[in-house]
Amino acid sequence: MEKSLVLERYPKYRMDIGIEVHVQLNTKSKIFCSCSNALTDQQNQHICQICAGYPGVLPVLNQQVVEFAIMAGLGTNCTVSEISEFDRKHYFYPDLPKNYQITQNYFPICKNGYVMIRLEDGTEKKIRINRIHIEEDAGKNMHSDLTGESYVDLNRTGTPLLEIVSEPDIENAEEAKAYLKALRLIMQYLGVSDCNMEEGSFRADTNLSVRLRTNQTLGTRCELKNINSFKFISDAIEYEAERHIQAIESGERIRQETRLWDSKNRKSISMRSKEDLADYRYCTDPDLALIRVTSEKLQQVKHGMPELAYDKYHRYIRVWGLSAYEADVVTSDIAFTKYFESAMAIYPKKSVLNWFLRDVLGYVNDTKIELAACLVTPEKLAQIVKMLDENLINNTAAKEVFEIVAKTGQNPEHVVQDKGLKQIGSVEELEKIVKNVLSEHASVVAEYKSGKQNAFGFLVGTCMKATGGKGNPKIIQEILKKHL
Ligand SMILES: [Zn+2]
Repeated sequence: MEKSLVLERYPKYRMDIGIEVHVQLNTKSKIFCSCSNALTDQQNQHICQICAGYPGVLPVLNQQVVEFAIMAGLGTNCTVSEISEFDRKHYFYPDLPKNYQITQNYFPICKNGYVMIRLEDGTEKKIRINRIHIEEDAGKNMHSDLTGESYVDLNRTGTPLLEIVSEPDIENAEEAKAYLKALRLIMQYLGVSDCNMEEGSFRADTNLSVRLRTNQTLGTRCELKNINSFKFISDAIEYEAERHIQAIESGERIRQETRLWDSKNRKSISMRSKEDLADYRYCTDPDLALIRVTSEKLQQVKHGMPELAYDKYHRYIRVWGLSAYEADVVTSDIAFTKYFESAMAIYPKKSVLNWFLRDVLGYVNDTKIELAACLVTPEKLAQIVKMLDENLINNTAAKEVFEIVAKTGQNPEHVVQDKGLKQIGSVEELEKIVKNVLSEHASVVAEYKSGKQNAFGFLVGTCMKATGGKGNPKIIQEILKKHL
């Protein structure tokens, strides 16, 4: 992928991009009450007096949210604050019945971290994280075009979010994409969120500005709100770069504003000016206690941290000898990693990798199923590859066994027995067959001896046919050479 076509055309300029990501945490209950945090099609089912904003109720903090925030902080190399606290951010909107959102404005739970990103050319770059804070989500307003009526669904009100704010270290669309992918993988590996962009559990707001490379101060920034795909974020960044540069070139002033991406017409539209920004009247929430993370607690969470994609990537290359490309594919999805590691735990040979990348992922792609639904489980794949490596079956038979197991879920060893796919491995048996073939095709042997190279291929093929496809082609070749 190109780094930035726009910046290639205008090499005098550079972009500074910072990204704010909202991650929806997959806790069982909401952040300050015991209402369910599960998705449902039924509106206003998961609500109570606390999340519906009744006066006089008291919020109680969900401990799991704090634990997830600490994990997210450790996973992004942040300093976890010993003390953090909640603030009220005041604004009026129908999907927020309390008229304020509980967030962490002044003392966030995590600060000063970084995420390593990997670019297409294999280089790595550090993107600094300014802060991670905990907050509650608002509900959803729904508008009917038909009747002109509006409805409010409060199921999402009071569900827990982490907001992860990067420094403006990102310089182009490729880096933005790499950052979001790296961050999403961290959250998925930690198990704190399913990070589904389409369903909105991983939402990115992109802050972008353009300046002359010689300029020390950042340009005026615009915010692109809630774009729900990597592709659209790249498109929007490229579009905005061009828009900013053209404005600067023609002497126009860039307005600080929030913009929306119109993916159909591939352009951004002004949503609201930041200059008439509301004053949120932040104040400490008096109903909630300070969050204190003791060093014991921090150690305890640290010990329970899983290995993350970045570390797995380097371990696979260093310890298991994967190429950068192979390690990248295997770690690009936590389901891939789990599958691969389970198969390697049973049969730790690199041949497992080739079968996983080519056959398992190929099959899953072709049939459009989830990897978890693939009937060739890691155990069964390991069995097939082991039988192949031990010369019990040949490559053609292994492919056939794979196909059958993928369709039926049968045990690979039983398939080999039922279908009579066991390879004829004994040299004596094969020698007999080879001798027969040679005496039956004396003219071909003569051709081979007079220097016709493809005569050899014919003889190998004929011997394979004589074994009913169950011979080991390598051994057959060796025996042929011996007798020719
Ligand atoms: Zn509730």
